[in-house]
Amino acid sequence: MSKQDVSNLRINADRLWDSLMELATIGGTEKGGVCRIALTDLDRQGRDLFVRWCKEAGCEIRVDQVGNIFARRPGRDNSKPPIMTGSHLDTQPTGGKFDGCYGVMAGLEVIRALNDHGYETEAPLEVSVWTNEEGCRFAPAMTASGVFGGVFTLDYALSRTDPDGVTFGEALKQIGYDGPEAVGGRPVGAFFEAHIEQGPILEREDRTIGVVTAAQGQRWYEIQWTGMESHAGTTPMEGRRDALLGAALLIAEARRIGARPNGRSTVGVIESKPQSRNTIPGRVFMTLDFRHPDDAELARMDGEMRAAAARIASEHGLEVKIEQIWYFPPTPFDAKCVAAVRAAAEKAGLPHMDIVSGAGHDACYVAKVAPTGMIFVPCKDGISHNEVEDARKDDVAAGCQILLQAMVERANA
Ligand SMILES: [Zn+2]
Repeated sequence: MSKQDVSNLRINADRLWDSLMELATIGGTEKGGVCRIALTDLDRQGRDLFVRWCKEAGCEIRVDQVGNIFARRPGRDNSKPPIMTGSHLDTQPTGGKFDGCYGVMAGLEVIRALNDHGYETEAPLEVSVWTNEEGCRFAPAMTASGVFGGVFTLDYALSRTDPDGVTFGEALKQIGYDGPEAVGGRPVGAFFEAHIEQGPILEREDRTIGVVTAAQGQRWYEIQWTGMESHAGTTPMEGRRDALLGAALLIAEARRIGARPNGRSTVGVIESKPQSRNTIPGRVFMTLDFRHPDDAELARMDGEMRAAAARIASEHGLEVKIEQIWYFPPTPFDAKCVAAVRAAAEKAGLPHMDIVSGAGHDACYVAKVAPTGMIFVPCKDGISHNEVEDARKDDVAAGCQILLQAMVERANA
């Protein structure tokens, strides 16, 4: 088959679905979900199945020092950097069948489909499995793609410990996936990750394909309000220094600041002291989580929040201390990769829309070392990290077809 026939290449929807369902039996839960925590024996079984399927599809397997697996299908010119796709096989304790697994199985299906057609790409293709994406056993999340992307060092990753004191490195050795390959440091032509949206937007807008343009940036804060404890009955309303009132007013301001296009704002923790119903609260600790895909806009949210907090503090005789404890810069995906996904959806006649990822993904860290794009497909009611997580066979297949199209065109470019 010649290069011109790319649009005739078809993935096999049944095979993709059946593989997803078979994989989901490893760690399958009674409620229909999957519990396959990173670097457990179940994780090993899932990896082993993937490796076996890849070998049967003629791929060469390599494993790096953080347990990332790379299944390679040679191209016509193997001096070219590979076009890569992949995601993760680990799940949350109450995970579903699709988060992560879909991106890995979609990559495998691309290779199987190309084998069916006897189609050879110019550059080689690779399907990757990134270790410990979820971060529920070993924090932080996306550990191993982070090492690949140069965000974390190898030693940092290997020394992470789980709640029982077992290190990432020990657990990796135990399941036999402590590979010999250096992590990263080699050229990747492009990386595409297919994933369920994990949000409600595609379903609500009735679109099959999400063309992911960026992943949100995040700023996390810890905020301390100080006023003065005082008697609830004898202290007049004027002149009170109520720390909880300061927090309440800032929660409302933060909500207003977050209510801009693509903005997110969440106050999840609030601790007021001294927890007495007849004493005015003198101290309040609260958290704040701001997200936005545009760094400048995220900085404006920061500025508006700080100004609002200062104004509230001065109006109510309070002190406020704001500490930004975490910053994850927005990840704009590669313009060419984004355009390739959009063009493939258009060519296939699939309803699509541009979308920003609300969650972090392995692709965010791989994007630091390779041109990267993502493909989202809808999931039922936008629910994920839950055993009821579900997706439609047609949508899953459509996303895989777009992945094939984008990868092959990039590999031949
Ligand atoms: Zn995921």
